[in-house]
Amino acid sequence: MPANSSSNASRQPAPFRIGLATSRSHQHGQESALAQLLNGSRHIIEQHLQPQLIVVGRTLDAMEQLGLLKDYPHIERFPYGRHGGLMKLVSRVVDADPARTLDAVIYLMDPVDPSSTFPEAVALKRQCVIHGKPFLSTLAGAREWLELEAMAVGAAPNPQLDPSFDLAQEGIALIAHDAMKERMLDIAERHFALLDQFAFRCATGTTGSLLNKLAQKIKGEEAGRNWVKPFLSGPLGGDAQIAELILDRQQCRRVLFLEDPHVARQHEADIQLLERAARTVTDYALCISDAECGERWLSLLQQRAASVKP
Ligand code: PGA
Repeated sequence: MPANSSSNASRQPAPFRIGLATSRSHQHGQESALAQLLNGSRHIIEQHLQPQLIVVGRTLDAMEQLGLLKDYPHIERFPYGRHGGLMKLVSRVVDADPARTLDAVIYLMDPVDPSSTFPEAVALKRQCVIHGKPFLSTLAGAREWLELEAMAVGAAPNPQLDPSFDLAQEGIALIAHDAMKERMLDIAERHFALLDQFAFRCATGTTGSLLNKLAQKIKGEEAGRNWVKPFLSGPLGGDAQIAELILDRQQCRRVLFLEDPHVARQHEADIQLLERAARTVTDYALCISDAECGERWLSLLQQRAASVKP
């Protein structure tokens, strides 16, 4: 949670301020991603995290129509997309003023809705990555993040989510752009025990071979050799291969993709493809795109996984 500026250490941290928006197809009916998220995480939102929600116009209209988070007091209406609601969310992500800044963004995107590729949608994610703030673009990602952060403030785990935290049945994809490879190795070393619990790990080519070297150092040459399954290198299509695993729901719902947002990438289309794959199976996949959020996520995941009864 964001730190409270008060020096009084006994006070609770300030509640999160979360930007919330959804593509249109995620707003219709009680089975929509928006309704599933807010109904499924209602207790967490109302009782534990009590975040300030900054909600873009049409998404808030849908919440009112569907009776979602009815009577929840901490909601601020932002303009409709066509009046700049999403653009203003980007500005709030980068705002240093603690009274205005967003701590996280939930933007449930439909990858075939053209608005998901508008500049403000791309900038929203990019600025979240640059500023180390969670950008949650799938239902599964948003639910997991809320569950883990609620647990961090003392909430009991939701047993309905236990199957997705049974890591012996789960896979994880690990990808890092060149400038982030050292950081990936550092994170993997510190969270090695957790990553080792997964049924399998996969990676793009170069990242994968570096991770296998690390695993050999930790587990021994033989046991570490195939710790990660390396696909092709990212620029040669590795992202697309991992995307297929996700689309086919082949036990790989989680992606830690340490992106370097400061360089132009020759294979930008492939990177976008992988993210679009995750959004296509919104109820299943999640993608964490920066090191700061990745570190916290893995630490909380460790605690949550430990709470799953065998
Ligand atoms: P690499 O690919 O692990 O083969 O370097 C990562 C990327 O650049 O997408």
